[in-house]
Amino acid sequence: MSRSEFDIIRQYFSGIGTPAHSPGVVLGVGDDAAVLQIPSSLQQCVSTDMLVESVHFPVDAPSALVGQKALSVNLSDLAAMGARPFCFTLSLSLPEYNARWLEGFSEGLSRVAERYACPLVGGDTCTGPLVISIQVLGLAEPQSILRRDGARVGDAVLVTGTLGKGALGLAAMGLPVHFDAGLHEQLNDLSPQARETLENFYYCPQPRLDFARQAAPYINSAIDVSDGLVGDLGHIVHASGAGAIVDSSAIPFAPAVVDCTSPSQRLEAALYGGDDYELCFTAAKENLAALKEVASNLQLQLTEIGEIDQGEGLRIRDQHGNLGAAQTKAYRHFQKEPIQ
Ligand code: ADP
Ligand code: MG
Repeated sequence: MSRSEFDIIRQYFSGIGTPAHSPGVVLGVGDDAAVLQIPSSLQQCVSTDMLVESVHFPVDAPSALVGQKALSVNLSDLAAMGARPFCFTLSLSLPEYNARWLEGFSEGLSRVAERYACPLVGGDTCTGPLVISIQVLGLAEPQSILRRDGARVGDAVLVTGTLGKGALGLAAMGLPVHFDAGLHEQLNDLSPQARETLENFYYCPQPRLDFARQAAPYINSAIDVSDGLVGDLGHIVHASGAGAIVDSSAIPFAPAVVDCTSPSQRLEAALYGGDDYELCFTAAKENLAALKEVASNLQLQLTEIGEIDQGEGLRIRDQHGNLGAAQTKAYRHFQKEPIQ
């Protein structure tokens, strides 16, 4: 059936996240531009993340999960800034009109948009390779904004949730991961249940918005872990002009990850994998008790994994207490074959 982009917009992208009920959205999808009313006491945080088929998700990935992930990873950036979601725009390039794909995609997107009260207010739709580009807008009081450059010597380094799970999800789908060539084959005989748990880690990251908002007063610097701990904590360390030591034995893992990996495999997944979308942040040690309380009220795991120091870059302490420089194995675009 042939459809124009206007039919697609009307049918699948109008009303996502209930813009009509969103204070601040004066005009959403349908005009030449959205119109937004921003309270003058707040600052805006703007972030874009693009998902490209066969780079960020496999060909034939379920579209509801792709929609869910596309918005979640963008919201994770807002969490890392200490902002709350305001609204988002969607630029979509699609190879063809495919009602089933669009329905699932729109449903996945809606689920996350409703859950985090973040309405879709505009975008662009065209034909081409499958590319999903989302821009999120967030709002925050100036004093709540969390930056990468605020780490101080003596700060504890903490992470929410567990690490390494996004990379294990990718491998569980039978796809090679860049830091461990044999991992996906090793996972061939996972039980269906274990496979589903791991795949869910990959497709359904939980943006830590509530935690970041409540914990902001106690945090000195923050980032979301999208490219592996070494790369992302490395950004904090670099931006803050400090160093850090991470205790490898303190890194938290999900039971499903522990069940199917050796200790060194899961450590590599945490350090160099990606797609975890947890928060990594630093805080003065006198704030640790307050932070633990915020996390516990949200039933969120929170783990102290290291310390900011005056040293050179990021160093990893192994279980015997030996220090080693972190390797540069984080995922880098322009360096790898596409996933199929
Ligand atoms: P224009 O020609 O002015 O760029 P478009 O035809 O691209 O307008 O879009 C018409 C309206 O639909 C605009 O309000 C635009 O923001 C919205 N829109 C287009 N694509 C999407 C999309 N994928 N999701 C949400 N809104 C969209
Ligand atoms: Mg347009």
